[in-house]
Amino acid sequence: MISEKIKKNDPAKRGMLANVMRQFEHASDSIGLNPNIRKILAITNNELVVHFPVKMDSGEIEVFTGYRVQHNNALGPYKGGLRYHPTVDLDAARALAMWMTWKTALAGLPYGGAKGGIQIDPKKYSTAELERITRRFTYALGDNIGPELDIPAPDINTNSQTMAWILDTYMSTKSPNERSKNLHVVTGKPLGAGGSEGRDRATGFGVFLCVKFWAQQNKVDLKDKTFIVQGFGNVGYWASSFLENEGAKLIAVQDVTGTYYNKDGISVEELNDYQNSVGSLEGFKNASLIPSDKFFGTECDICIPAALGNQITAANAPGIKAKVIAEGANGPTDVEAEEILLQKDITIIPDILCNSGGVIGSYFEWLQNRNGEIWTMEEVMEKLEKKLKTSFDRVMNVAKERGVDPRTAAFMIAIERLEQAYIQRGIFP
Ligand code: GLU
Repeated sequence: MISEKIKKNDPAKRGMLANVMRQFEHASDSIGLNPNIRKILAITNNELVVHFPVKMDSGEIEVFTGYRVQHNNALGPYKGGLRYHPTVDLDAARALAMWMTWKTALAGLPYGGAKGGIQIDPKKYSTAELERITRRFTYALGDNIGPELDIPAPDINTNSQTMAWILDTYMSTKSPNERSKNLHVVTGKPLGAGGSEGRDRATGFGVFLCVKFWAQQNKVDLKDKTFIVQGFGNVGYWASSFLENEGAKLIAVQDVTGTYYNKDGISVEELNDYQNSVGSLEGFKNASLIPSDKFFGTECDICIPAALGNQITAANAPGIKAKVIAEGANGPTDVEAEEILLQKDITIIPDILCNSGGVIGSYFEWLQNRNGEIWTMEEVMEKLEKKLKTSFDRVMNVAKERGVDPRTAAFMIAIERLEQAYIQRGIFP
């Protein structure tokens, strides 16, 4: 079992998988999860590792390694993103797939959880190479993905263009009369290729909404509140943009090139324009470069980790000044850091709730494709807000009623939903 494997590992080397397993075990203990169902949920259903050759622009062949881990499908088809990053490996995909299972269950979606990707630094490749890598990866995945089986979506360093290449490759492998039935094999597509209005901003909008709901609950006015963001990709940008609209002020932002600070505020649009022209935040002038290990200790009201996992650890948690941490990333806070933050009375809006706007937006896209419908931006945003508010209130109520932290509450709701499905259906044969 995964959990046994982790326990034997050196704690210093524990990664996201150890983190998600400890979160799962803690919540399972809290609800007294049926031990047989615990065995099932503690392990992934299917794990696919593919090695595939791609011709580079130079004419040389490079062999890449791709992953797709399908954790659980008790509630519906596997669902989750594809990430292109050097940290992608089997354990990372397992951890992220598990988080997807809890996330979709918590949101009440008819989905299970999966995750995958390719272990690459996409910055090292041309657009043409990335297209061939993506298409060849899709071909290698073959019928292990499918619109009613496993539906990938964007994640770190993948976007609507990546999804369009996957869709086109997948459809091209089907017979002509089957092709258009497969539009919902991926979500997060460009609008012209079956995408949905609002999917691009759905994750960041959801992060913003969670902060807004938290503020309402605690009678906090977001106007003039300060926030810091780690990672200025799709999630970091959109969350910042919506918060700025509400009158809050971005004062520090961190990406791989450094940490940029300006106590008077950084214009989100200016930062985004800069990033779009330069490709990163490197050299951004209207902020000063501060040491990266100072980022989480910045004096602020709201902290949004929107990059990789295990960023908030026992090393930096004691210095965190924010009142609320809104987890745009998956698994940004490790278990040790969480204990420290809870003692400091800092609210953590857990990832499986806070960034669930993305997969909820994906669900809306999938429904539209399946039903031949096209919804307006207003409809999508309205439905998203309604769904997220229900989840948010439920998590906070369970936390209060059962005297647990919001993450444990979120896990409890998700796991109980899965437990019920297994109890009602039984185990084949
Ligand atoms: N990659 C996103 C996540 O981690 C979205 C997944 C999806 O839409 O399927 O939640």
